[in-house]
Amino acid sequence: MKIHEYQAKDILKDYGVAVPAGVAADNVEQAVEAAKKMKENGTSLFVVKAQIHAGGRGKGRTKNSDAKGVILCKSIDEVRDAAESLLGDTLVTIQTGEEGQKVKKIYVTDGVDIEQEFYLGILLDRAKSKNVIMVSTEGGVEIEKVAEETPEKIIKEWIEPGMGLQHNQARHLAFALGLEGDAFKKAVKFIMALYNCYVETDASLVEINPLVLTPGGDVYALDAKMTFDDNALFRHKDIQELRDESEENPVELEASKHGLNYIKLDGNVGCMVNGAGLAMATMDIIKLSGGEPANFLDVGGSANVETVKNGFQIILEDQNVKAILINIFGGIVRCDRVANGIIEAVKDPEIAEKVENVPIIVRLQGTNAKEAKEIIDNSDLNVISAVLLKEAAEQVSKVLAA
Ligand code: ADP
Ligand code: MG
Repeated sequence: MKIHEYQAKDILKDYGVAVPAGVAADNVEQAVEAAKKMKENGTSLFVVKAQIHAGGRGKGRTKNSDAKGVILCKSIDEVRDAAESLLGDTLVTIQTGEEGQKVKKIYVTDGVDIEQEFYLGILLDRAKSKNVIMVSTEGGVEIEKVAEETPEKIIKEWIEPGMGLQHNQARHLAFALGLEGDAFKKAVKFIMALYNCYVETDASLVEINPLVLTPGGDVYALDAKMTFDDNALFRHKDIQELRDESEENPVELEASKHGLNYIKLDGNVGCMVNGAGLAMATMDIIKLSGGEPANFLDVGGSANVETVKNGFQIILEDQNVKAILINIFGGIVRCDRVANGIIEAVKDPEIAEKVENVPIIVRLQGTNAKEAKEIIDNSDLNVISAVLLKEAAEQVSKVLAA
């Protein structure tokens, strides 16, 4: 689950990570009020930032007012103008795609005098089964670009799970950023606190880009991106409440409500599979036979009528889908039951209408696979059965070519 920058900064603050002061606002008046209060506390430079679940805001532009997603303001009037131009408009950044993301909230924050911008990220290195902390002197730019062009500029420390982040590792990272004296000490403290926050909140990613050094030797998180492990959310009710469903892909959201794991892709072959590994193999085989998967969909272990129906509804939301490949392994479920489930689902009037011109290829393997094939073959529906995955994929290319 992703959250907004202002939410991430609130959490970071609780863990003792240095962030500039700021207030989130839903409307212009709130933003102006926040700026006035900040001014009373000594702020003379404000930054108004669009709150959307996508980065690249600084270089992004809104559709109507052509405003940047991060606006520097020298006065309360400029804060008002910035709020007016951002709120309600759609911000397009390199990460949102052409359609952009509507701005419903902004963050009014202290403008920080920047001496240097760094990158700092924490995530799980799955290959090493360890958390990794990465820093780079190339802050403010996309880290993917740094990784590709100048990988030597990314310094990493892997954390032993049983030991946690060691002080000397944090020192090594701060040293790699070229920091000295007070700034060095502050950066070490910052990294220790950030790692603690990452672990305690069950985050799967914390990215501070940029982490900045001020001329006075202070270190701040100017931007913050946090993603949490969905499987651990049950033990963080407070974080769960930060979910902003309007920022999520509506179909993926609908799928998650039915306990289905769906990710939309750009191809035209819809897939319905039980098990994530089999789903990936199915996508590979579709590609190998010349097709492009329209989605990833794992319906879980028990493929019953209800899950199959929901799966169809979700796949068919996507207008690009020209064929559907169902690949179910009957281990926990019997294939004949799944076959009957598929037939019942396809007969459902709502689904029947949508699949009229969408051939369905079904490959059922495992317990009672033979009976299942007979059930499919004997039905008078637009459903084609296959035994081998290869055959299923060939059927897909055949129906796409037809
Ligand atoms: P994004 O990554 O979405 O573009 P950032 O929060 O990283 O958004 O902001 C982009 C750039 O704007 C930063 O690299 C920094 O140079 C500047 N910036 C952001 N927040 C502040 C701030 N509080 N004070 C001064 N400059 C800022
Ligand atoms: Mg950033």
